[in-house]
Amino acid sequence: MKKHELTAIEDALEHILRNVSSAATAVEDVVLSQAVGRVIAEAIKADINVPGYDNSAMDGFAVNTASINQSECTLAISQTIPAGSTGNKLEPGTAARIFTGAPIPAGADAVILQEDTEFDEQKVTIKQLPEAGQNIRLCGHDIRQGDVILDQGYKLLPQDIGLLASLGIPQIKAYKPLKVAILNTGDELVAPGERLSPGQIYESNSFTLEALLKALGMEILKLGIVKDERQATEAALLKAAEEADCIISSGGVSVGEADFVKEAVSAAGELSLWKLAIKPGKPFSFGQVGNIPFFGLPGNPVAVFVTFLMLVKPYLLKMQGAKNIHPESYRIAAGFELAEPGSRQEYLRVRLHKSRDKQELQPFPNQGSSVMTSTSWADGLAVIPINSKVKQGDLLDFLPFTGLL
Ligand code: AMP
Ligand code: MG
Repeated sequence: MKKHELTAIEDALEHILRNVSSAATAVEDVVLSQAVGRVIAEAIKADINVPGYDNSAMDGFAVNTASINQSECTLAISQTIPAGSTGNKLEPGTAARIFTGAPIPAGADAVILQEDTEFDEQKVTIKQLPEAGQNIRLCGHDIRQGDVILDQGYKLLPQDIGLLASLGIPQIKAYKPLKVAILNTGDELVAPGERLSPGQIYESNSFTLEALLKALGMEILKLGIVKDERQATEAALLKAAEEADCIISSGGVSVGEADFVKEAVSAAGELSLWKLAIKPGKPFSFGQVGNIPFFGLPGNPVAVFVTFLMLVKPYLLKMQGAKNIHPESYRIAAGFELAEPGSRQEYLRVRLHKSRDKQELQPFPNQGSSVMTSTSWADGLAVIPINSKVKQGDLLDFLPFTGLL
């Protein structure tokens, strides 16, 4: 395979994302307690102001600053306003005992911290001139009624769930989760829990993919291990296309004699991408079976992990209706050297080492595409562009798993 026959990842991603079908436009109501991770199908507006009324940010005394003109003065305590109650209009020349979150009484314009006073049951002595507005949380200062709080296509984070609850919203409209079919080709594969015979290995890719898809909140259809036969492969693909919104296979896309995925997909649909200039992940393919999108991932487990994160995940997020689909990356210094430039863009499994005055990336010693330990050991991926050498201290794009998964 010559270099120029491999598609660059940027071109592959552009092609893939251009071809996102909108299978996942069905919308459903989701209660707040089930809504984390869901993509919202319509913008969410606030029906109320937050806070809904001027209230005290502190435990202390509500006063009218106009009636206080010397820093040391003593006022009668005319009422007590705990949170959850509403006070009366402040009698001129008095103070109201007030607690955090309680409504500011009419006629008051500042709250003096309890710690800045001396007080008993009847009176309070103020030691500092208050400023108008101090320690008051104004009505609507966080959210104004009618404000758009979250846009359509936004994927809900845990903190958003609390935000929605604070607006009195019990449920949201979200896109129905995509259903993704997983199939794994290989005569050598055996499910974990079974006995290995000579020449066999445990099938792990479907577990990696299932876990990655679960983290995206998607439904999974596991079609199991498929024999390295053209017929069996085609039958599995057709079944997947009938039942799922998207198909992901692993293995069988190299150029070996037992690699039937290309043939089977070409018979049942078509491939529009075949082999990428990335490492790991060169034997990657994309196309469709019928009108269902198909990703043919490599067999090697690390290649499955990397190509899913870099290519399949953005696609699925877009198909799911999400607007923010690309992973965050950071420029971090290399703590290593690469003397030989590569002809494919490389995704190294690296750790981020931090010391007091610097942080740098260190690669796992064995970057083989079958070495799964590299993925558990690492904090993320470092990107080495095509034809690049790396010197100590060169800045590299680092994609932490915390943002990728
Ligand atoms: P292939 O592309 O089918 O030639 O597979 C490449 C390598 O990945 C071979 O060493 C396979 O044994 C391995 N492999 C393929 N599928 C899986 C799987 N589902 N789980 C673990 N290893 C796999
Ligand atoms: Mg195989």
